[in-house]
Amino acid sequence: MPNIGQNIKNIRQRIEKACADCGRDPKEVTLIGVTKTVEPDAVREAFCAGIVHFGESFVQEARQKVEALAEVSAHWHFIGHLQTNKARFVAKLFDTLHTLDSEKLALELNRRLENEDRTLKVLIQVNVSGEKAKSGIAPKQAGSLAQYASSLPNLKLCGLMTLPPYFDEPQKAAPFFAALRSLRDEMAAKDVPGHLLAELSMGMTGDFEEAIAQGATMIRVGTAIFGERL
Ligand SMILES: *Cc1c(COP(=O)(O)O)cnc(C)c1O
Repeated sequence: MPNIGQNIKNIRQRIEKACADCGRDPKEVTLIGVTKTVEPDAVREAFCAGIVHFGESFVQEARQKVEALAEVSAHWHFIGHLQTNKARFVAKLFDTLHTLDSEKLALELNRRLENEDRTLKVLIQVNVSGEKAKSGIAPKQAGSLAQYASSLPNLKLCGLMTLPPYFDEPQKAAPFFAALRSLRDEMAAKDVPGHLLAELSMGMTGDFEEAIAQGATMIRVGTAIFGERL
């Protein structure tokens, strides 16, 4: 069994160190515990150890877990690819979506949110590397999607998210994180007001220190908290 409380302490220390190394305030970095495949009891343990943001990737799994953990007052982030036909579950159960990637999905989410009388924070997932197998919108199209999302009353645009290619050496991910930050700066000058793009969701277990050095405000960490996924 992984020692969840100790793991969280270690990660908080690493976040502090990474922030100190680049002159940032650790309060600017939100740690999201990624709980895909993790049992509700382990999520509760992480919550008791101070994690209040959790990320899920699969609608089916997340529905059961969010409901099982209804007594835990956590913020739920949907971080997996979302098909339009599952938008209603995210509209109903989640606080933040990291993977907005089309106008069609934005419109459907907005419609479902209106029905639920809710709002949802959204980040646009950008495919910075251009890998074919990866979700996310092309950098060139992110500006117009941001304009569209910001026009929908029940979506609260708040930033950008990316997943770099996998590298054994985390330094190699840094250019992809830097590219997301530059894209954000360009979009904030051209497409939408900068405060709608304040969040940069980037960095996971293997590379969150590099992401922090490049300006991450949300890091998504699973393995380093909950152990290897089966
Ligand atoms: C699974 C997942 C993570 C967490 O990955 P770890 O390497 O276990 O920290 C982060 N972001 C996304 C989008 C994921 O699917």
